[in-house]
Amino acid sequence: MNPKSKRVDRLLFSIFSASLLLLVACDEQAELSVTSTTQAKTTAAVDAARIVDANNEPGNWLAHGRTYDEQRFSPLADINDNNIERLGLSWFYDFPTNRGMEATPLAIDGVLYVSGSWSMVYAFDAVSGELLWQYNPEVTKAKALHACCDVVNRGVAAWDGKIYVGTIDGRLIALDAADGHVIWDVQTTPEDAAYTITGAPRVVKGNVIIGNGGAEFDVRGFVSAYDAQTGALNWRFYTVPGDPSKPFENPILEKAAETWSGEWWKMGGGGTVWDSMAYDPELDLLYIGVGNGAPWDRSIRSPEGGDNLFLSSIVALRPDTGEYVWHYQTTPGDSWDYTATQHMILADLQVGGTTRKVIMQAPKNGFFYVLNRENGEFYSAEKYTLVTWASHVDQETGRPVEAAGVRYDAGVPAVNFPGSQGGHNWHPMSYSPNTGLVYIPAQQNLGVYAHDDGFSYEKGFYNTGLDWTKATLPDDPEQRAGVIGQFTGFITAWDPIAQKEVWRVPHSNLWNGGILSTAGNLVFQGNADGQFAAYKADNGDLLWNFEAQTGIVAAPISYRVGGKQYVAVVAGWGGSLITFGEIANRSKGSVNRSRMLVFELDANGKLPDPVPFDRGTPEPPAITASAETIQQGDDLYHSRCFACHGEGAISAVSYIADLRYMSANTHKNFKAIVLGGLYQDRGMPSMASHISDAEVDLIHTYLTSMAHRVLEETNAAPDQ
Ligand code: CA
Repeated sequence: MNPKSKRVDRLLFSIFSASLLLLVACDEQAELSVTSTTQAKTTAAVDAARIVDANNEPGNWLAHGRTYDEQRFSPLADINDNNIERLGLSWFYDFPTNRGMEATPLAIDGVLYVSGSWSMVYAFDAVSGELLWQYNPEVTKAKALHACCDVVNRGVAAWDGKIYVGTIDGRLIALDAADGHVIWDVQTTPEDAAYTITGAPRVVKGNVIIGNGGAEFDVRGFVSAYDAQTGALNWRFYTVPGDPSKPFENPILEKAAETWSGEWWKMGGGGTVWDSMAYDPELDLLYIGVGNGAPWDRSIRSPEGGDNLFLSSIVALRPDTGEYVWHYQTTPGDSWDYTATQHMILADLQVGGTTRKVIMQAPKNGFFYVLNRENGEFYSAEKYTLVTWASHVDQETGRPVEAAGVRYDAGVPAVNFPGSQGGHNWHPMSYSPNTGLVYIPAQQNLGVYAHDDGFSYEKGFYNTGLDWTKATLPDDPEQRAGVIGQFTGFITAWDPIAQKEVWRVPHSNLWNGGILSTAGNLVFQGNADGQFAAYKADNGDLLWNFEAQTGIVAAPISYRVGGKQYVAVVAGWGGSLITFGEIANRSKGSVNRSRMLVFELDANGKLPDPVPFDRGTPEPPAITASAETIQQGDDLYHSRCFACHGEGAISAVSYIADLRYMSANTHKNFKAIVLGGLYQDRGMPSMASHISDAEVDLIHTYLTSMAHRVLEETNAAPDQ
């Protein structure tokens, strides 16, 4: 057994488990017999019938959203609003890296499968917490440069004895579910381009469906289907048209090209399918969520305007062939990183006495959409958070009505709600058929969008087309606090039929965890402040809370083994908000500890004491540079470095160096690190292709000034 794995109250459990087995109810016996039969055949014997009928085995979590409709609702009710106070820590496991953790685990026949940072995969005994196997795809750490949003991974898929993971370097890998050995490993993206994979694969009718990310850089989005058995490519659907002088890959792309202008294909166009999918087996439609444009600023990528299909759209495809069926574009002509990659949920809703097959999404743009999922017809959209970029979505056309000045191509920066973090990001929401509510891990945030007058395309690097030096926080403490205060998070329990909020739980910070709802009238969510909490599903009352010590962004699941219900969540804060420096850095000051946490009734496990987050003392060299030189370095930092190291050189997380606190030795080696790749194996690639020698000096001068500022503030602070 791995020494890091710790079973809490093992003895207590073994006494209880013997008696519990005798107490298993009839339906649970059926569930167990299914389990034992399939287990006898093979591990993770998941097939189409099992996922389609997932409600017949509520003890398992077979696919990313549990069911193909991705409702993330657990029918289990052994843990419920009457006994939740008895919920305690059953076991935990400390992952070998402390970078951000965004994965939803799978729970299949007593085994948990979960992915982590650097695309690693782990299998645990779901009851004891014993690590059964782990797999490290050994990705090139320098690939972190192309990871806009941390080297995270959102989960694995299972099918016929195999576990599938997409990797940060663009591979799709099939592992033997029994021992984690590689069955096949295919490169799904061009290796010379800035593609990454962070999303979970889905398996539909024997096809492993996988997308990718990279639309902050210069990629062209697509989604691919690989044969689950062999890894052979079955089809690929591009989400944006390519060079029109070459044949289009399919007829719909020729039509889509009419909505573009200029030479968009030279900078990729974007439209990555980096997270959300859903499948309706009855309609045989696969739904994909498509991301933002590359560059963000439409005036650069498509200078004559246009809707730029299929950016920021939900697209329905045939899962056997990738054939286009319909689309709905949430943000025509996106210029704000308003991706429609957010979680999509399928449900049959009673509207005016009629059952409607709908697809629901709360994309970044701040509107909650209800569409007809047979044909993409628009039903309704309302604001679920503060939205200023558009007044409403027109009922006739289904198009947003933009506010004046939101397009910043006139040379005037736009300050919009939401900003690029979105009213809702990738963090999964949940739909409870019992309450009829969609629980959205929502947030309020603003974005400063400024056209980059000096933009020049730079292959393989950030190509948003925005001037980020105009988006930094003000130095004045009061103004600064005022801006930071605009960034908040909350759970909104949303009635999708009435299109209105039923209850809300406010959080102190944005970037909180994904959500699970259960038949026990419970809603579970971890948050940025390091709490894992349960709320009453019908009214939002806080019923239970666990001090997780580290922020949580991933979504919980629930499963049942041996007649006992468990709740599991992966802790470990990270993801794209780390770019935001002080805004992101308001959560607990402890060292990020990436952990698997599993709970059951009457367990009372304890976590070890948290490790305080000590950045050390800055050891900058003396500084004599002029204010002008420092400003040049500041501007360079905010176009080259901030996306990982944070706005204002403030790192939001313990696992990424806060460059204000560099040691004397790091200052000495600065150039060797930045240009020479000295720390490449730690995920700090050489920036030699993107930063010149003279620019490194300027950036270093800026960081040195920021270090002196920390020392001044420390010295000015009263003794504690
Ligand atoms: Ca994006």
